Amino acid sequence: MEIFPYTPRPNQKAIISTITQTLSNRGHLILESGTGSGKTICALSASLAYALKHDKKIIYTTRTNSQQQQVITELRAIQKHQKEVRDPDSLFGVGIQGRSNMCPLAYQDNELAQGTSEELSRFCANEKKKARSSKNKGCQYYRSFVEEKEKVQQTIEWVKTTLPTAEGFIEQCEKRNICPYELNKQLVRDARVVVVPYIYVFNITIRNMLFDWLGLSEEDIILIVDEAHNLPDYIRDLFSTQLSIWMVRNCGYEVEHFGDPSLLESRFSVKSFCKTLEDIISEIRDSYVYNLLETGIRTNGERKTDAFLPSNEFLSELTGRMGITTKQLHDVIEDLIAYGEKIQENKQKQNKLPRSYLHKLGLFLDFWIHLAHEQYAKLIVDAAEGKNPRIEAYCLDPSVGTDILTKFYSTIHMSGTLEPLEEYRDSIGLPAQTTLVSYPSPFPKENRKILYVKDVTTKYSELAKDQTIMERMWQYVFSICSSFPQNTMICFPSFNTLSMFQRNTGFSCLKRTIFFEEQQMSQSALMDLVTDFKAQGDNGGEGAALFSVMGGRISEGMDFPAEQLEIVVIVGIPYPKPTARQRGLQRYYDMKFRKGWEYTVEAPTARKLLQTIGRLIRDESDRGVAVLLDMRAPRFKKYIRDLEPTSDLLKDVKEFLKQKS
Ligand code: SF4
Repeated sequence: MEIFPYTPRPNQKAIISTITQTLSNRGHLILESGTGSGKTICALSASLAYALKHDKKIIYTTRTNSQQQQVITELRAIQKHQKEVRDPDSLFGVGIQGRSNMCPLAYQDNELAQGTSEELSRFCANEKKKARSSKNKGCQYYRSFVEEKEKVQQTIEWVKTTLPTAEGFIEQCEKRNICPYELNKQLVRDARVVVVPYIYVFNITIRNMLFDWLGLSEEDIILIVDEAHNLPDYIRDLFSTQLSIWMVRNCGYEVEHFGDPSLLESRFSVKSFCKTLEDIISEIRDSYVYNLLETGIRTNGERKTDAFLPSNEFLSELTGRMGITTKQLHDVIEDLIAYGEKIQENKQKQNKLPRSYLHKLGLFLDFWIHLAHEQYAKLIVDAAEGKNPRIEAYCLDPSVGTDILTKFYSTIHMSGTLEPLEEYRDSIGLPAQTTLVSYPSPFPKENRKILYVKDVTTKYSELAKDQTIMERMWQYVFSICSSFPQNTMICFPSFNTLSMFQRNTGFSCLKRTIFFEEQQMSQSALMDLVTDFKAQGDNGGEGAALFSVMGGRISEGMDFPAEQLEIVVIVGIPYPKPTARQRGLQRYYDMKFRKGWEYTVEAPTARKLLQTIGRLIRDESDRGVAVLLDMRAPRFKKYIRDLEPTSDLLKDVKEFLKQKS
């Protein structure tokens, strides 16, 4: 507690003590503590105090940029609190973002802004080379960074005294004409705390670069993983790979532009190879996604969007149609990668993003050939209504990317919703002796009410049998939105269900301000929408209804304290869709842990529900009521212990809200 800057809330002393104990044992900790319980400041205070005594550094990794800001804000509070006792340099920390956010040349240019970290790294290396060899060429931000020592030193002083967020830091550097990325590299060495997105820890190339900057090895680092419930899915995505028709067509455009070399001693051209690939993907899609169930219609009525691909299907089709052996396919892949590199160099010379689709194609085929079968599912996916089918190697086992965790001095994994904690430990491959701790919500139980109704559901087979369910569901939503002026959020299992509801119900009868979250909304448009919604609840505003989805940017990432949100309506249980990908995952977890349903269906669904409900209560005085419109809700009683049935929803909600007033 020695550097904790606030008066501790319930559980915070215990959390700090648990973390300190874990660090002393050089162990691993999985910690669940309710949303709003102040985990960030506890983890920072405990690990900083330990790091100062034992000369360690902290890598604090977050999923989103707004979580990163929170860490820097808490670090500032610690620094302020300690200003009489310690040299501020000893509590210095920096936030790092990807090069696409930190490089002024990249974020000012649409093409560069889309670049991957490898592409931008290559682009940057070339810009720096030019800047070093000529006074007028290359990156101006790099030139100032190298040449204007005094300005750089002043910026370093400013950073150390202000502890800016990554956004503030980037803005200042740009104003001073200095490269934020290069300066960050230099600052990281002096920092006690480095706040990074997940990719800096779990992408091998980027992690090696970070450790080079730090000049340290893993055993000198304490790793804190925030919002850890996101990590298994994040790693699955990071280690999955795909080849879409769109990408193959781009290979075709590339050869049209840069020339169409021949492969295997002129047996065929790259263009004809790509055309064959395109045909194979389309035909595999027709065969496995559309035709297997004749109409492409699932028995549960939803259109099928993916299917398992027999292990050798794609490669045997490719070698068969091209009339080549597997050995010759390896030669083709090497040639594609070599041509791709030439294209990258060519684009680089023209100051363009050094991207080559042929290069990506070569890498994909190489990966596909060497795939570890048991940890991946091979899929054919048709998610864009026939427009862009793809084959995909979907990573089933996140532990393929987490070897690094056991090399750190110690790791702390935290979230408000991690139960069952064993699932997280097993999924990411932490040792069996990892400490698992769950703290109950520190807020008064009577401030939260969670009700469910028993006569509606979003289960497809029930909806198909009984047309009146949808009407009753709408009646519940309508009557809650019309009866209570408080800010209300109505959350759906997916954007599909939300739009189905939008099509089939009469929103025009709702006489109040309504907001809709949209799937393709930009981050700034989403923030504007949320700000406007919150304003309707603040200071006795008229109150509004926000229609949103579970597992999305609003229901998992935003805070709505006090009157900004008082009622949450959950329209149906957000079970994962029964896609081939999901079934593959469930089967893998059944084989590995005998817990396929619990780990891949029940627990992720419960987390989405709890995250959504968690928006209601952000501090001790916050109150709110959640309503689950689904008769299947009691299946989640072990995760949501205060769940209660209601036979008169409006009366029960009214009574709860009246107690407050
Ligand atoms: Fe971008 Fe900095 Fe590289 Fe210049 S030196 S290209 S500003 S990252």
